[in-house]
Amino acid sequence: MLVILSGVSGAGKDTIKKELIKRMDNVISLPSFTSRQPREDEEEGIQYHFITREEFLEKVHNNEFYEYDLHHNNYYGTSRKLMNEKIQSGKIIVKDIEVNGTENLIKLLKNEVKVVPIFLRVEREELKRRLISRGDLLTDEEIELRLGRLDYEESKMNLYDYVIKNDDLEKTVQIIMTIIENEKRLEHAKK
Ligand code: 5GP
Repeated sequence: MLVILSGVSGAGKDTIKKELIKRMDNVISLPSFTSRQPREDEEEGIQYHFITREEFLEKVHNNEFYEYDLHHNNYYGTSRKLMNEKIQSGKIIVKDIEVNGTENLIKLLKNEVKVVPIFLRVEREELKRRLISRGDLLTDEEIELRLGRLDYEESKMNLYDYVIKNDDLEKTVQIIMTIIENEKRLEHAKK
């Protein structure tokens, strides 16, 4: 199963992903490749594989990505090889990805793996507050760029099987755990 978590930067995807991995058996992450710089609390191979822009474009050229996107002036992409390995492992993959990548992955992988797309909503004012208080010292321009993305991401909400307003982390984690358990049951019932 591939659980996709979307929503603008600051919607809480990364925290939720960590909680799901901590609390549920058989749930794993799938780090993407990115050309952006690591944030202070990020480690190579955990949230992302950090590579240069040139290395990224080389991988694009070699067709190593299922999909990739230029987002906030940085590249992000899903490795075919890593995704295939994780699908083969039979585990539940949780992946944090923006709306364009989700649209592509649903099309590309729907015959390979059960895809469960979940969209996390957050109010504009709450998002602004989170972005300002986050540790990576975004400039005003970077904050505006992320806020500007909100409307676009929300216009793609109909791609998603589940839309959750993330105003309470614990509640959201519980809801997603229930969704995963139910989807697992449905998958087994079909076999
Ligand atoms: P951030 O820089 O805040 O970690 O991520 C920026 C955006 O890129 C987020 O919306 C995140 O979900 C998205 N993203 C992360 N990995 C991928 C990927 O492999 N492909 C695409 N299309 N977007 C990604």
